[in-house]
Amino acid sequence: MEKTNGVGGDAAILQEILASLKTIQQENTHLAAAVDAINGRVNILAGVKQVKDLTFDPAAAERNKVHQTNPVVPEDVPSSPDLAVVQESGRRSSTTSKIILTSYPGQAGVDPLPMDWGNKDPSLRGPVVVSRNPSSIRRRNAIGAHGGSYAIYNALAVASKNLNTDHRPDFTNTEPAANIGPFPQWADPKKIVAMDPLGHLAPWLFKDIIQKEDVDIRPTIAITKAHMKLPEIEESVRKGRLVPDGKICINESGELAVTKFAVEPVWYLPGVAERFGIDEGVLRRSLFEHTGGSYPELITRGDIKTFLPPIGGLTVYCFGDPAKMSDPNVKLALRIHDECNGSDVFGSDICTCRPYLTFGIEEAVKEAQNGGSGVVIYFRKEGRALGEVTKYLVYNARKRGADRASEYFKRTENIAGVKDMRFQALMPDILHWLGISKIDRMLSMSNMKHDAIVEQGIPIIERIELPDELIPADSRVEIDAKVHAGYFTNGKIMTMDELSNVQGRAWEDVDH
Ligand SMILES: [Zn+2]
Repeated sequence: MEKTNGVGGDAAILQEILASLKTIQQENTHLAAAVDAINGRVNILAGVKQVKDLTFDPAAAERNKVHQTNPVVPEDVPSSPDLAVVQESGRRSSTTSKIILTSYPGQAGVDPLPMDWGNKDPSLRGPVVVSRNPSSIRRRNAIGAHGGSYAIYNALAVASKNLNTDHRPDFTNTEPAANIGPFPQWADPKKIVAMDPLGHLAPWLFKDIIQKEDVDIRPTIAITKAHMKLPEIEESVRKGRLVPDGKICINESGELAVTKFAVEPVWYLPGVAERFGIDEGVLRRSLFEHTGGSYPELITRGDIKTFLPPIGGLTVYCFGDPAKMSDPNVKLALRIHDECNGSDVFGSDICTCRPYLTFGIEEAVKEAQNGGSGVVIYFRKEGRALGEVTKYLVYNARKRGADRASEYFKRTENIAGVKDMRFQALMPDILHWLGISKIDRMLSMSNMKHDAIVEQGIPIIERIELPDELIPADSRVEIDAKVHAGYFTNGKIMTMDELSNVQGRAWEDVDH
């Protein structure tokens, strides 16, 4: 190579090389950081990263600072979920020294019990196993926890040492107080997707697995019998609408005999996704993201299809012989009721909830007395499943405005972004489970409930609206708006103009 630049030229080239090297170094650092970040995420998703112990110890936190803030450094790859159950010193409140953030299919030691949703044979269907207790964690075939929304109280009880994690329920004498099914619907994976059709029998059907393999298996349905007393029913006896028969309506004070079924939600995710016409992956991702990342296994355990969501369940109130619910030869009167605590329990007059509930009970009792069956199903979906805080914000916006029926739905939509989050698509599962194949008298005006039931292949023969005399004055805003929006009525459907003249009570009369 010809020397043309001399010494000064060499220095310039050297300078240039050094500059290039520096750039490469910087880029390398950025690249390494990017790879580290990706590794950290992958490790978290795959459950490789384990948090040592969450009991707060400032000295340990200081020592572990690098580890805590840098998810790149995997501590140790779990060879078995046993790592999750190493006993630790008594000083700490947690029962494990290491926490597995998630698991993944094929991980050593992961051996889920069979779960073939919809299989007619209970032993092939398999029990729902969700416990993370040492003896059961390997056998889990469901994500989430028992108890619906009460799972959090269970966690609090353990954290505060009020509940030993080793506690196992004693199921002596807890068997269902009434027989139900089995019905062909129980073995149809498309008809029941939001509850476990074997939930009331789990501890007895799977006794062997509990005893021999020490797996923690719990019921998600319980069936009991009770008497109930409501002032409205007492009044209807007094007025002669309801006549005591000594069996269903027991006496002059309107005491009722009832069989009650409490059901906790158990979701078969592919079935739930199909009901909503969405992809299972989209459902899983949304459930993961919008519960604050609470259930990583929704993402990492595609092999687990069952999820016990942290939401409220439902209660069936059956009047008369429970066997008649599924008898196609007798009439069935049914009310599907979504929780409205303010009205149902505390008698608020802003809506028609309690009047419709007690009317539903009265009609159910009458149907049972006539040799048919009467059923009221109560869903824990407070305030259209938006909750009471949203509901009260809506009340305020209504009462501080003109509270016109024409504005009724807009108020909710402005605050919640939707009119309603009850999504009735999953509601008919309970009807399939009860063996109901048709509804003679539907004690509901809701078009959403009606459509969801009919879409599930259960015909509704007659729809019974709430009698006018039972509608509180202040709740006309709600009922007229709902009728305008498509709720069933034999009466008049108002125009938008007429709706703007339906106005609720202002706050002033409460304040004075
Ligand atoms: Zn209400």
